[in-house]
Amino acid sequence: MDRRAEIAANLEAVERRIAAACAAAGRRSEEITLVAVTKTFPASDVRLLASLGVTHIGENRDQEAAPKAAAASDLDLTWHFVGQLQTNKCRSVASYAHVVHSIDRPRLVGALGREARRAGRVIRCLVQVCFDAEPGRGGAAPSAVPALADEVAAEEGLELGGVMTVAPLDENPDPAFAALADLAAEVRAAHPRATTISAGMTGDLESAMAHGATLVRLGTALLGTREAIVR
Ligand SMILES: *Cc1c(COP(=O)(O)O)cnc(C)c1O
Repeated sequence: MDRRAEIAANLEAVERRIAAACAAAGRRSEEITLVAVTKTFPASDVRLLASLGVTHIGENRDQEAAPKAAAASDLDLTWHFVGQLQTNKCRSVASYAHVVHSIDRPRLVGALGREARRAGRVIRCLVQVCFDAEPGRGGAAPSAVPALADEVAAEEGLELGGVMTVAPLDENPDPAFAALADLAAEVRAAHPRATTISAGMTGDLESAMAHGATLVRLGTALLGTREAIVR
């Protein structure tokens, strides 16, 4: 099968999964934004996705995302940066990302805000929450999220979009997604436009959608298994 047909078949299966999860949760599919996470896959796959109507593209490493965004700059895409972000990468990320999902500390708010203003852009930001017993994969402690959200909202050049999480590995994801929904409601009470709940990957899409996810980030389900990344 050629690559376009393969991705088209995967996309159809994903759309069926999303429709079924919507039906199960009594939600409408228009409430859900699908972000295709293209890390480790080439810019040619980004083009194929775009030709199939998928225009939200996610990446987790600036070194890979920057050249890919440049290679696809003729397309009308929304770029999501979903990986851990170092302050020294903010200038580059601010040059192409429309949405950053991984705001997890005050220093990042200042650094990304500065670079967004410098670039004359407004970047939509999600506060990433960590529900892991042992932190280390990025994300703020749940108790730190409301204050961090306030800081994002107050930073010129940034716009508070909502919250994001990656569920703990090898565990039932339901408790984390339920806790994320509660935090999202708390943030939304203070910032009514912060409506995005970014949650759900290939392995836990249904659980995330049952708990109110409005944006799902899918890699494997759309593009296949990734080669191991050597860092
Ligand atoms: C890679 C990645 C995804 C996609 O994961 P799959 O399990 O392949 O769907 C989603 N979110 C983040 C933050 C990622 O790094």
